[in-house]
Amino acid sequence: MTRTARYKPPAFVQVDVDGLWAVRACYDRPVGDAFERDPVWEEGVPAFQRLFAQLGLAASFFVVGRDLEVAAKREAARALADAGHEIANHSWSHTIGITRLPARELFEEVARTHAAICNAGLPTPVGFRAPGYDVDERVHAALRRLGYRYDASMLPTRVAPLLRLADAWLARRWRPGRRQFGCLAHARAPRVPYFPQREAIHRRDPAPRTSGLLELPVATIGPWRLPLTASLVFALGADRVIERLRHDLYRRRPILFLLHGIDLVDCRQPIVFGGRRSPIAGFDRSADEKQRALESVLRFLLEHHDVVRADQWVARYIPPPEGSR
Ligand SMILES: [Zn+2]
Repeated sequence: MTRTARYKPPAFVQVDVDGLWAVRACYDRPVGDAFERDPVWEEGVPAFQRLFAQLGLAASFFVVGRDLEVAAKREAARALADAGHEIANHSWSHTIGITRLPARELFEEVARTHAAICNAGLPTPVGFRAPGYDVDERVHAALRRLGYRYDASMLPTRVAPLLRLADAWLARRWRPGRRQFGCLAHARAPRVPYFPQREAIHRRDPAPRTSGLLELPVATIGPWRLPLTASLVFALGADRVIERLRHDLYRRRPILFLLHGIDLVDCRQPIVFGGRRSPIAGFDRSADEKQRALESVLRFLLEHHDVVRADQWVARYIPPPEGSR
C-alpha cells in the first residue's frame, strides 16, 4: 500500500441513546419504571461500546439530556467518551415535534442538554439530532447560537408519509402535530453533507462560508431512499443492505449509519409492544442475533469507508463559521 491509497468516503456510525422510557413514550406505551431501570443504558450502551472496541471504530452517541440526571447513566456516558466516542445532543426530553414548540421552549430543548453534557465533565458537544428527525430553520438557529458545527436531523427519504402512517398505527392514534420523519420537502434534500440555506434548510446554501453549520443527512438507500438504520438491516437482512451499499460505492458518498441504543438490547421478552410478534423488525430478537447482523454491515463500512467521528471530520475539513475564533 502506498500513501496515495484510494480515497475512501467517510462513514459516520451514530447511536441515538433513546432510553426505553423514550421509546415507550414514542409509541404511547406506559413508561413504567423504565427511566430509572433502563436496559438501553444498562445493556445496549455497554454492548455497543464492546462491539465498537472489538471493531476498532469511533462512533457518536446522541444522548437525551434528562437521562444525564441519573448518576449511572452519566457514568456510562463518561465511559463512552473515555473510550474515544463523541457525545452529542439529542434534545432534553425527546419530545417528538420540537418544531411546534414556542421559541423559548425549543431553545431550551437544545440548551439544557448542552449544559447537562458540559456539567457532566464531558467535552462540549458540537452535533445535534432532533427526536423524530423533526428539524426546521428555528432548530438550526438555536444550534448556531450555541456554536454547534453540525446537525444530523435531516432524513431525505421518500417514504416519510408511510413511516408516519406506520407510526400512527403503532401508537393507535393519528397525531398530525407530531411531524415525525420530517416534512415532504425534506425528501429532496441532498444526500451528502451540505451547508443548508437559512430560510430553506433542505436546500444547499450558495454562499456556504457564511453558514457555519453543516447538515449531515442520515444515509438512505435504493430508489425509495429507505433510511439506513438498524431497523432496515433487521427487516431486509444484512446481506441485502450490503449488496445495495456495494452497488452505491461508485458514487463515493459519505454514509451516516443510524443505530439506536435498543438495537443491542435483548428483546425476546417484549419490552415495548405486548404480544409475541413485534410489529417493528428487531423488537422481538435476541441481542446476539441483532449484533451479528449489525456487525456485518459495520465490517463492510470499515472495509470501504473511512469510519470517523462526525465532530472530528467536521473540525478537520470544514472551516469554522465567519466571525468565530
Ligand atoms: Zn431518538
